[in-house]
Amino acid sequence: NELASMMDVSVTQIISTCMSLGMFVSINQRLDAETLTIVADEFGYQVDFVKPTEEEINLEEEDEDDDLLPRAPIVTVMGHVDHGKTSLLDFIRKTNVISGEAGGITQHIGAYEVKLEDGRKITFLDTPGHEAFTAMRARGAQATDIAIIVIAADDSVMPQTREAINHAQAAGVPIVFAFNKIDKPGANPDKVREQLSAMNILVEEWGGKYQTQEISAKSGLNIDLLLEKVLLEAEILDLKANPNKRAVGTVIEAALDKGRGIVTTVLIQAGTLRVGDPILAGCYSGRVKALSNERGQKVDQAGPSTPVQVLGMQGAPTAGDKFNAMESEPEAREIANKRLQLQREQGLRTQKHITLDEIGRRLAIGNFKELNIIVKGDVDGSIEALSDSLLKLSTQEIQVNIIHKSVGQISESDVLLASASDAIIIGFQVRPSSGARKLAEQEEIDIRLYSIIYDAINEVKAAMEGMLAPEF
Ligand code: GDP
Repeated sequence: NELASMMDVSVTQIISTCMSLGMFVSINQRLDAETLTIVADEFGYQVDFVKPTEEEINLEEEDEDDDLLPRAPIVTVMGHVDHGKTSLLDFIRKTNVISGEAGGITQHIGAYEVKLEDGRKITFLDTPGHEAFTAMRARGAQATDIAIIVIAADDSVMPQTREAINHAQAAGVPIVFAFNKIDKPGANPDKVREQLSAMNILVEEWGGKYQTQEISAKSGLNIDLLLEKVLLEAEILDLKANPNKRAVGTVIEAALDKGRGIVTTVLIQAGTLRVGDPILAGCYSGRVKALSNERGQKVDQAGPSTPVQVLGMQGAPTAGDKFNAMESEPEAREIANKRLQLQREQGLRTQKHITLDEIGRRLAIGNFKELNIIVKGDVDGSIEALSDSLLKLSTQEIQVNIIHKSVGQISESDVLLASASDAIIIGFQVRPSSGARKLAEQEEIDIRLYSIIYDAINEVKAAMEGMLAPEF
């Protein structure tokens, strides 16, 4: 209807044009960018896409430099299974390394804040692992400042350790390594340092930039030192936020509680959230009825880098959804309804990911500069050979990045990383798991399977050449 009136043609003409394209549309249906372009072209119009109004995409109030105050770092713990992630998070939660309130934090609300004796704070996301981290990124949420990667010193760098490193690096999040289980007789942290250096990760003790700390998550040995290093990393990042504006944050968890209604854990990233504020998260709105912290205590307000449980959402948003305090409840409701409608019309997806076939078009539109690739294969040798050759395809116009490579079938975590980093996945002599295939369909991730290295290289090369913008 809108398009028809903009072009001054009848709605039926638009609908029949869509039908000729094989689309059956209703009068109020939203059309995607490509369809709009084609339909408009049929009527001799060219579509010029303007960004949605500022209010619709960015609900956050702008900051002046003077408004920005230091904020606590937000940390995610990652690492291979059984290397001690949960033990580390539990120790930090339960003990007073970490002074202040007596007793530990007994609740699990998805995130918690700890306070050191000198008053400095660190916020931990309580769901360990790079999968959760990357799933949030895939939804557009960047809620981690620093990653602690735990490696059991009696074991070695394992596949999920590598994954965690690659996922953190793909997100540009600095890493502090915790060499755990140092109490065990077989612990050999130097072996781990060596394995890391073989991956081009040089630890500080060996002249590199990565901080490490030997710890025992079980006994708590040196965990205070680990936190010091995290804070040092945070200092370098110079983390700041404006506490004096309407709150902006990310949804960490949401659940229905029989007695209390929807309980949403939100990590506030800027501004301050107060009881009574109108709120919006994902496709739902509401008003803050009550706030409580990770100790189950009622609080009146929550500022930057604070996790807080919010009562008063009308529906349960999804982890990773943006959270905004709004000026008025009707405004929040209106945007929520609009989003809900959009979601119904377009399915869950909002962002299209790169495919080999699409590269040419993207380049023609403008600034396609990097091609991110994840390489999975059956043996190390072929993965290395393939990755090297792909990297060599880089040209002045397009930089090829191998953001992750490892042996094994294509997993859901690979697909999530591809979604978060807009990458394609190349499988050499391996296939995706059924879960990965489903997720790839949903996220529209391009998975290419090859059994001959030469074919893989040629196809990527052809795509890149097809996409090379003509030089005049
Ligand atoms: P996650 O899978 O990475 O979360 O690992 P967990 O925290 O569940 O730990 C796996 C196992 O290692 C558990 O049995 C822990 O008790 C044990 N563990 C964790 N940290 C240490 C440690 O510092 N020393 C020793 N000896 N055992 C540990």
